[in-house]
Amino acid sequence: MKVPADLLSFFKREKKFFIATHINPDGDALGSSIALAITLESMGKKTIPYCNDPVPEFYKFLPGHERFTNSISDLQPSTFNLVLLDCNELSRAEVKNTGFVSSVVIDHHETETEFGDIKWVNPRSPATGIMVYYLIKELGMKITKEIATNLYSAIAIDTGTFRYTNTTPESLRIAAELIEFGADPSYIAENIYETWSERRFKLLLKVLSTLEISGEVATVLVTQDMLKETGASAEDTENFPGFPRMLKSIKISALFREIEKDYYKVSLRSKGEKLNVAGIAVTFGGGGHRNAAGYRIRADFKKAKEELLKAIYSNCR
Ligand code: 5GP
Ligand code: MN
Repeated sequence: MKVPADLLSFFKREKKFFIATHINPDGDALGSSIALAITLESMGKKTIPYCNDPVPEFYKFLPGHERFTNSISDLQPSTFNLVLLDCNELSRAEVKNTGFVSSVVIDHHETETEFGDIKWVNPRSPATGIMVYYLIKELGMKITKEIATNLYSAIAIDTGTFRYTNTTPESLRIAAELIEFGADPSYIAENIYETWSERRFKLLLKVLSTLEISGEVATVLVTQDMLKETGASAEDTENFPGFPRMLKSIKISALFREIEKDYYKVSLRSKGEKLNVAGIAVTFGGGGHRNAAGYRIRADFKKAKEELLKAIYSNCR
């Protein structure tokens, strides 16, 4: 993968970077942002890694996660360059201030916008973490154990730990190299998959009991009441959308998460190369990848579900 020359000279030349990533951050968003921040700091630059949402509890094993801030009240954008990671539009990061010196986008989503003075968007890249890996190499900087742990976690999350269709020889080769640089695959897997709180587990039990199947599509629901009853929070639902996809008969699964009354976040997951859920999410104003995408919708649950099934059957058949 070739890093654009203008991007390299941008990072060599500029001194201050506001590194922003998307809301509801996942391991790729967090890991690639932290790895880039550590690298730039080691080059003597100043960085502010920013996410509007707090770092979820189960990602607090990522070394350097405490660098993240979600407060920008005293930021002076006119002295910082914006680097948008793992998303390609300001609204995904809930960054409103646009008075930055310049803006750079590094992302791998299929759904791309016009935003950014320098853009490196490669939907064929399995993770933003892989793009940041190449960037660090091209900058001639060292991959420390801290950086390796963040980048390996980023790649692991976005490939379902090397199970999804985006698992390439390249992603495995880079992961192997990151292990040589100090990433510990079993420590990372344990932290990602086996450190659930009891609250989160109880929420999953409730959510699975809402399963409804319509042909090859499965839906599950998270309500605000379920969050209250279990004491879990929205971040705890991160990998819930994938559970119904475990069923052999299911090709697409959807998790509806109630944000407030008649307002839902919908997370879609699909199996295999054929069913592109990003295409469905776009019809609702969202976006994402072929096998994982999302959007928000204002409607009651029944209507939101009907609309989704209609969109699936007209897009995918
Ligand atoms: P999730 O459903 O887990 O929130 O997200 C799945 C994938 O779709 C992620 O790569 C995420 O960045 C993307 N995604 C989720 N919601 C939206 C959205 O509203 N807009 C866009 N552009 N992408 C989204
Ligand atoms: Mn990603």
